[in-house]
Amino acid sequence: MRCKFCERPAFIKLHYPKMYLCEEHFKEYFERKVKRTIERYKLLRPDERILVVVSGGKDSAVTAYILKKLGYNIECLHINLGIGEYSEKSESYAKKQCEALGVPLHIVRVRELLGKGIGEVKTRRAVCSYCGLTKRYIFNKFAHDNGFNAVATGHNLDDEASFIFANLMNWNTQYLAKQGPLLPGEGKFVKKVKPLYELTEREVVAYALANGIKYMVEECPYARGATTLEYKAILNEMEEKRPGTKINFVKGFLRKKKLFEAELQEVELKECRICGMPAQGKKCSFCNFWGLEKPLEFNGRITPP
Ligand code: SF4
Ligand code: ZN
Ligand code: ZN
Repeated sequence: MRCKFCERPAFIKLHYPKMYLCEEHFKEYFERKVKRTIERYKLLRPDERILVVVSGGKDSAVTAYILKKLGYNIECLHINLGIGEYSEKSESYAKKQCEALGVPLHIVRVRELLGKGIGEVKTRRAVCSYCGLTKRYIFNKFAHDNGFNAVATGHNLDDEASFIFANLMNWNTQYLAKQGPLLPGEGKFVKKVKPLYELTEREVVAYALANGIKYMVEECPYARGATTLEYKAILNEMEEKRPGTKINFVKGFLRKKKLFEAELQEVELKECRICGMPAQGKKCSFCNFWGLEKPLEFNGRITPP
């Protein structure tokens, strides 16, 4: 098959909209879509300092690559979760990706910082739940302490569609009210953006391949059996039968998000007595979970380029 726009052989067949594209036209298509997402949802301004959270995987690597290509002022942060060999390998991929891009990489290692790796804490809380809490706290605090205007993550359309699906199945209206490509900054919460919001996982893989971006393929050992993977599989099956299912589902959700916002309970945030970050009680959930007695300081942790 040939590309829809030129004589070159097709590199990929897109299902929605249905078309064959050569490598060059696919890159153009992908970059145009990211640009449009940034403009449509007003994610970033050209003068902002952006911290891209890189895990070593494809999504965050592509996010850093494309934001740099579009001319944004980015630096990267890798959080080493302390999950054995998996984390060591992830860190080395993150380093290689940032070296290839020529952008500064900052590394925070959970074990060095908190004494234990993810998965080593004795708690009734599920590993992924406190891992998520830990990552979100670290990247926000790091960005806040070092004066970044935004944190960019690599969430793609498949992640978002499965998240919305899973939360709808459980009627977690509070979570749904706060989902979207943009989480505006407020007080000590730095703005969060998802530039790959409208691109499928398959497109992200193809873009990484087209640009020679090397990434970690292995999944985290704790991801096995995660229910989000089951939701992703169901959505993939539906997408196969009815192309466009995922994007229409997510866009429909954004149009109806107000319904969930109406259910948001206003909670008055105080300052955590340990770290000074927003908290519902006396301590924020991070300081409380890790039993901290003094705050983690990230100020000045900036690694020179
Ligand atoms: Fe953390 Fe691994 Fe769970 Fe992802 S799958 S939230 S990296 S523990
Ligand atoms: Zn072409
Ligand atoms: Zn705290």
